[in-house]
Amino acid sequence: MNLITITRPAYEQLIQACLDQFPNEACGVLACFAQDHEYETISEVLAIRNAAGMPVNSYKFDPSDWVTAMYKIKRNRLTIAGFFHSHPASPAVPSASDVQQWTGGMQICSWIVSLTQPDAPVVRTYRPVVSSAGALMFTEVSIHIV
Ligand SMILES: [Zn+2]
Repeated sequence: MNLITITRPAYEQLIQACLDQFPNEACGVLACFAQDHEYETISEVLAIRNAAGMPVNSYKFDPSDWVTAMYKIKRNRLTIAGFFHSHPASPAVPSASDVQQWTGGMQICSWIVSLTQPDAPVVRTYRPVVSSAGALMFTEVSIHIV
C-alpha cells in the first residue's frame, strides 16, 4: 500500500476541518466503505474535538467524540482508514510525539495537514512500519484524489 485514495469532497472536508480549528490542532478519523479486506476509497471525514491540554501543538481525541465516531462508523458499516491531525505552524511531517503517541496500530495511515500557509494547506500521509531495530516509524504514502 504505497498509494491511498480519497474522494475530492472528503479531501476538501479534511482541509476545512483543520482550518476550522486553526490556530489549534484539529484531529479526527478518515473512513471508507470497506469491501473484502482491501481498503476502498476514503470518503468520510469525522472530526473529533481536540482534548489536549496544549492544543496549539498537540492533539488528543476527546473521549466522548471518539465514542460517537465509533458508533457512526459501526452503524454505517465503515472502516477506519486513517487518523488525521493538523500542524498549524509546522510542516506536514510527523513529530517525535506523533510517532511515540501513535494509537492507530499498523493498519491505518496518519494524515497530517500543515497550515503554515493557511491559503495553501499541505496534506501528507504516512503508513506505520517497524524498523529493523523494532521501532515504530512512519513512511510516506502517495495520495490519489478521485
Ligand atoms: Zn503532529
